[in-house]
Amino acid sequence: MKNLEEKLKVLNERKENLDLREFIEQEATNDPNFFRWLFDEEFEKDFAESLTDEQEEEFAVFMDDIEQHDDSLKKCDYCGGWEVEQGKARYGDGYWTPYEYEYNCANCGNLMFID
Ligand SMILES: [Zn+2]
Repeated sequence: MKNLEEKLKVLNERKENLDLREFIEQEATNDPNFFRWLFDEEFEKDFAESLTDEQEEEFAVFMDDIEQHDDSLKKCDYCGGWEVEQGKARYGDGYWTPYEYEYNCANCGNLMFID
């Protein structure tokens, strides 16, 4: 997969309220050209039907740790789970921009602060 950084940026912009994993799975199922776009290759068949074994493996590895590329997920520093950042913004006195966000890990309840 070439220009993966650029593609991850596009995917993150387009996923809206879905997790990146859900969005990619949805695109892979609904968009016949998704794998042509992802691999920059003019596959003969739609969807993943023309992928080589190596490409299938490459995609599987890519999806294995897709959470680390999801702009809206943070890793819990206690349990290591990935949870959506739905934190409350915390403001300093007289400041209009938050200095950090607090949120709980939905998996273990750990309270975290993110700058
Ligand atoms: Zn946790």
